[in-house]
Amino acid sequence: MKKIILLGATGSIGIQTADIIREHPEAFSLVGLSAGRNMEKTRELIQEFQPEIVCVQLAEDAQKLQHEFKGILFVHGNKGLIDASTYEADVLVNAVIGSVGLEPTLEAIKLGRTIAIANKETLVTAGHLVMQSAKKYGADILPVDSEHSALFQALNGEKIEQASRLILTASGGSFRDKTRDELAGVTVEDALNHPNWSMGSKITIDSATMLNKGLEVIEAHVLFDFAYDDIDVLLHRESIIHSMVEFQDTSVMAQLGTPDMRVPIQYALSYPDRLPRPAAKRLDLAEIAQLNFKAMDYERFRALKLAFDAGREGGTMTTVLNAANEQAVAMFLNRQIGFLQIEEFIERAMLGHKTIASPDLETILAADSETRKTVENMLK
Ligand code: NDP
Ligand code: MG
Repeated sequence: MKKIILLGATGSIGIQTADIIREHPEAFSLVGLSAGRNMEKTRELIQEFQPEIVCVQLAEDAQKLQHEFKGILFVHGNKGLIDASTYEADVLVNAVIGSVGLEPTLEAIKLGRTIAIANKETLVTAGHLVMQSAKKYGADILPVDSEHSALFQALNGEKIEQASRLILTASGGSFRDKTRDELAGVTVEDALNHPNWSMGSKITIDSATMLNKGLEVIEAHVLFDFAYDDIDVLLHRESIIHSMVEFQDTSVMAQLGTPDMRVPIQYALSYPDRLPRPAAKRLDLAEIAQLNFKAMDYERFRALKLAFDAGREGGTMTTVLNAANEQAVAMFLNRQIGFLQIEEFIERAMLGHKTIASPDLETILAADSETRKTVENMLK
């Protein structure tokens, strides 16, 4: 029985992680969870799973819950997130959104805890700190993101130094059939309408700008230690091949499946075992009949190019890329800026930043908050 702590339990990945835990009561138990502000969902999760520790964002919510549920430890805010992530367990699932997930992850790693990581912003903003620390403390970092789970599975049992290329697939997001000119007037609603995946709003916008794939390229570089020249992105609109690894003998291993995040989530929880999923839809290639591929167009999807640039630059530049994007996407969702301004603001933030190489945590946190302010000021 694996004891699980789930950060971001009320989000899209969090709810699907809860589905997996519910499907396998013999294998997993949810001992702790964190939520942001969605108290309705938090109450439901507490009633169903009876965890030992719960973190919410606001102190007043923690207080209210403490009155309702006796015998559960309630904590709050960023400090509470660390209390929850370091609570006694086997696996920490990090499914919060944004770089707020960084410090809780680093603290759990210090305890040698296995980390199932969905929270890609953490790996983009400070991947070197996470991986160095994981090595030092012997903590396993298991990918939840479908592309990285695919790469991880394709590399299983292989010698990583004999792999020559990582090929990440990209569905293209909500606007894949639009030209750049057609992007100028798109609305928040249009952007939130993803063709293949149902996800939280921030990552759905990231998919539309293609910055999500850019964050994933950096995430792949961090997790598998591949040079950026050896990471490719391929447009594949059906989202059936989740990614591929090419080996030095030109053989290519692909991982396939229906677009269902519960598969990679479950694999990260059950690893190195696999568990059945009797209720899940199985892949039927005869029914799908056709898979399509197309070379990535870096002019059309400029945000992806910016991510490669930031990754190659390294140091604090990936922190700036991530923070600028988080700020700009929030502004787009608040209808303060247009869709194309997201990548414009990211590019301006990157141009204005002088990279610091091998940054420590303090330097990263400073670059992150400075960038958010810089991007906010771009509105004025
Ligand atoms: P959601 O927006 O759906 O959920 C985010 C979760 O984080 C919620 O539980 C939310 O709480 C909580 N949260 C938000 N802000 C804070 C904060 N400041 N402090 C503490 N908790 C906070 O996101 P997703 O589930 O879509 O994504 C989670 C992560 O997984 C992201 O990094 C994303 O890139 C990655 N990912 C997601 C995929 C998907 O299919 N959704 C696929 C692959 C990766 P509340 O809602 O209660 O306020
Ligand atoms: Mg992904």
